Amino acid sequence: MPLPMPPTTLSCPKCGWHKTVVPKSDVLIEGHTWFTVCPQCGHAELERKEANGLSGLVAEVQQRFEIWQKKRAK
Ligand SMILES: [Zn+2]
Repeated sequence: MPLPMPPTTLSCPKCGWHKTVVPKSDVLIEGHTWFTVCPQCGHAELERKEANGLSGLVAEVQQRFEIWQKKRAK
């Protein structure tokens, strides 16, 4: 059984964009809950670091809300 990935803060070294995401296998949506390129400037090498407890928790709640909104919009 794979361990879940911890909440991760993605940040762009070029323009300063950053977002904390909670990667879960069922909700990995490129450009929404996961980013491989910066959505602001298109820089492809985002820095990743493990989020601290609080920002991870906040991100998880935000992410659930975003997904809920997305489902609701259909
Ligand atoms: Zn950027």
